Amino acid sequence: MYSQSIDKLIAELKKLPSVGQHTAERYVFHYLTRGKREVADLILSLNGLINNVKSCEVCWDFTDTSPCRICSDPKRDQSVLCVVADSQSVVALQKTGAFIGRYHVLRGVLDGSDPESFRRIKLKELFNRSVKDKNLKEIILALNPDLSGETTMLYLEKELRTKNPTIKIVRLARGLPSGSDLQYADEITLESALKNRR
Ligand SMILES: [Zn+2]
Repeated sequence: MYSQSIDKLIAELKKLPSVGQHTAERYVFHYLTRGKREVADLILSLNGLINNVKSCEVCWDFTDTSPCRICSDPKRDQSVLCVVADSQSVVALQKTGAFIGRYHVLRGVLDGSDPESFRRIKLKELFNRSVKDKNLKEIILALNPDLSGETTMLYLEKELRTKNPTIKIVRLARGLPSGSDLQYADEITLESALKNRR
């Protein structure tokens, strides 16, 4: 429809979540009218993302250094581990300032319609930690209170209890609206869900 180069970028942008044809066109023409400087900055940031961001070898969060800042901080409580679906949840919980333990980022949740999700998310890594980490006393399951989050937490609860019966497994307290997304919960709700976990 447009020139080949414009159409190609529109097609790339449409792969992003919630970006349709119209939004993709707006982004492309934004860059075309703003000029080379802004495009160069975007290329630099994307390169930084590809070249510098790696996985933390301990918690699987995305980070510029491995182990990440949280995992390598000796002041964090080594006895509590909070299991979350994604990096955004780590940031949301960190903002509350109410959690001083460490995290495990699953990088997704179990998805009934996608059998690959069993292998893709960091389950094996979590089970290994739960068995090998001798300091660990409590695991908090902090996934979104929606259908896939609940299914994943039920599975984790069962498996973690079998693998290491001495660890206490808890969930965030009710209070987060059912079906909601942890990363958008306000800090007070999240802090109270954390404090009243059971
Ligand atoms: Zn880490």
